[in-house]
Amino acid sequence: EKKVVLITGCSSGIGLSLAVRLASDPDKTFKVYATMRNLAKKERLIECVKSLHKDTLDILQMDVTSWQSILDARDRIVEKRVDILVCNAGVGLMGPLEVQSLDSMRQILEVNLFGTIQTIQAFLPGMKVRGQGHILVTGSTGGLQGLPFNEVYCASKFAIEGACESLAILLQHFNIHVSLVECGPVNTDFLVNLQKAELGDTSLQQVDDLTLNLYEKYLQHCGSVFQNAAQDTEDIVKVFLEAIQSPSPAFRYFTSGDVPPLTKLKATEPGGSRYISALSKTMFSSEEQ
Ligand code: NAD
Repeated sequence: EKKVVLITGCSSGIGLSLAVRLASDPDKTFKVYATMRNLAKKERLIECVKSLHKDTLDILQMDVTSWQSILDARDRIVEKRVDILVCNAGVGLMGPLEVQSLDSMRQILEVNLFGTIQTIQAFLPGMKVRGQGHILVTGSTGGLQGLPFNEVYCASKFAIEGACESLAILLQHFNIHVSLVECGPVNTDFLVNLQKAELGDTSLQQVDDLTLNLYEKYLQHCGSVFQNAAQDTEDIVKVFLEAIQSPSPAFRYFTSGDVPPLTKLKATEPGGSRYISALSKTMFSSEEQ
């Protein structure tokens, strides 16, 4: 019997790659429900799976911010169960905190936090009844350590850590595993899709010069990190596969193979000062030059 997998946010990036990989499994181990908010964006996925057998992939509409949309997608699952749930949909928000509107901040939390939780809520009862299941969530370094100009994004990803860790404790009693796949920078549409304050934006006119100066440095740093150190989605998919195939999955997987050094520093010096100054140095180092 195939393992039924449902993935959110499959029109691009990590979700798309994971859906393609699982649906093209040579042993046809998986039946993949690749879901996306906007079905008009399904061409890319279809292009990637053109040669596949139809019995391993289905594409469904699902907006994680709409409970009705989640229920509609759930109703269309032929097998009437999900063995592996991958909560992957997410959006970023970048810029000085003082220019973020309440609406845009809410939107980030709607998708990243409540979207993830609602999706889990919809599939959890079925998993509990069957006494099995695996919930995987695309986590972020931004959920483990603070990043300047990403306050709200980090808040949403930290929140997911708390929600998942809490759930994992309970769900042990139901033989349901919870795993976070913690990603650093990944080459996807994430930077294009995120809401970002651009240096010339009128909204930034009210912001003080020092903040703007540091924001500019941050953007340069971010650009070079994505250019030099970003992983490809295939690397991320490998880690998801490892987690999915493990008989006793870990709670956290790090796609780079290890805990990021600065996250370690945070753990070894709980007071936080060393982490905060080390990160500031890394991000804004051109200041020292
Ligand atoms: P991406 O922008 O290519 O993919 C995100 C997907 O989520 C998109 O397909 C988007 O349409 C979808 N989405 C947004 N709002 C949605 C909604 N309301 N309902 C359903 N789907 C929605 O970027 P990605 O890098 O593949 O992002 C996937 C996940 O990885 C996100 O949760 C992101 O936070 C996380 N992540 C990404 C990076 C990175 O550097 N790319 C790093 C760490 C974590």
